[in-house]
Amino acid sequence: MAVPKRRTSKKKKNQRRTHKKLHVPGMVECPNCGEYKKSHHVCASCGHYDGKEVVEK
Ligand SMILES: [Zn+2]
Repeated sequence: MAVPKRRTSKKKKNQRRTHKKLHVPGMVECPNCGEYKKSHHVCASCGHYDGKEVVEK
């Protein structure tokens, strides 16, 4: 059976799975209020979509 020649260093070990950790996919900043909203959805905090107010708050 294949056996690792070298022990994985602390640095290399800690470099695993560092990507896509803090970023929530499909979330964008609202251009109107700057709040995070789902892309292609009406903003939950100000009700704007595509530069227009769609839902009254
Ligand atoms: Zn907004």
